[in-house]
Amino acid sequence: MTQTTQDTNVVEALAARVSGPVLSPTRDGYDAERTGLQLTGRHRPSAVVGAADADDVRAAVAVAADQGLRVAVQASGHGVGVPLDGGVLISTRRLAGVRVDPDRRTAWVEAGTPWARVIAAAAEYGLAPLSGSAPGVGAVPYTLTGGMGLLARTHGYAADHVTRLDVVTADGRARRVTEQEEPDLFWALRGGGGAFGVVTGMEIRLFPLERFYAGSLFFDVDGAPRSWTRGVSGPPRFPRS
Ligand SMILES: Cc1cc2nc3c(=O)[nH]c(=O)nc-3n(C[C@H](O)[C@H](O)[C@H](O)COP(=O)(O)OP(=O)(O)OC[C@H]3O[C@@H](n4cnc5c(N)ncnc54)[C@H](O)[C@@H]3O)c2cc1C
Repeated sequence: MTQTTQDTNVVEALAARVSGPVLSPTRDGYDAERTGLQLTGRHRPSAVVGAADADDVRAAVAVAADQGLRVAVQASGHGVGVPLDGGVLISTRRLAGVRVDPDRRTAWVEAGTPWARVIAAAAEYGLAPLSGSAPGVGAVPYTLTGGMGLLARTHGYAADHVTRLDVVTADGRARRVTEQEEPDLFWALRGGGGAFGVVTGMEIRLFPLERFYAGSLFFDVDGAPRSWTRGVSGPPRFPRS
C-alpha cells in the first residue's frame, strides 16, 4: 500500500467516527492544526484529529489501533518530544474547558486547557492552581510530567495534587483513574508523561491565594564564582547602555 493510500484510508475511517475535523496532509488547515509553539521537529502525521470531545479521542485511538498506527497527542505544542511521522495526531486544543468547585477547592480541567484559563477561573474564588511559569502551557501535559511551578516550594509538584484523571488507554477503553479505582495507572500517569494513554480531563486541587508577587533575577556572568565559569571560553559581551 502506498503512503497516500494509507493516509486516505485512515482519514476516511476517522471521518466516519469523529465529530471534530479530520485533516490529511493535502487538506487546508492541516499545517495550522499540527503546529504548536515549537516549530522545530513538528509532527508529520497521516491524519490530524481535532478532537471535539472525549468520544473523539476514544474513536481516534481505536481507529489507529485497528490500522496499526502510532498515536501522538498535542495540546499547545510547548513540549513536542519525538515528532510523529505518519500515524494519527490527536489535537486537544478544542478541549479547553475548566470548571471550578469552590466548596471542594478543585477544578476539572480538559485536556487542552492552557494554564491561563485555569488561573482566571480559580481566581474568581480567591483560589489558584499549581501552574508553571508560562500561561500558554497546557495544564494537563504539564501535570503529567510532574509540574514544578511557581508555588512548588510551598505545595510541591502539581502531579501530587491530582485527584482524578479520565484516560483513553491503547486498547481504546475510557477509564476513570483515581487512587482507589486504578491505583497503578494513577501512580504512573502522575509524572510518567504521555506514555500511558490519552488523558481527556483531570481533577486538581486548588489553593487559597489572594495575592502573588513574582519576578526574575538575572546576574551578570562576571558576578558568578570562578568555579562556575571555568572552561567557558568567554561570555558574550554586550555594550552597556
Ligand atoms: C516556555 C515554557 C515554560 C515552561 N515552564 C514550566 C514550568 O514552570 N514548570 C514545569 O514543570 N514545566 C515547564 N515547562 C515544560 C512544560 O510543562 C511541558 O513541556 C509540557 O508537557 C508542555 O505541555 P504543552 O501542552 O504546552 O505541550 P504539548 O507539546 O502539546 O504536549 C507535550 C507532550 O505531552 C503529552 N501530552 C499532551 N497532551 C496529552 C494528553 N491529553 N494525554 C497524554 N499525554 C499528553 C504528549 O506526549 C506531548 O508530546 C515549560 C515549557 C515551556 C516551553
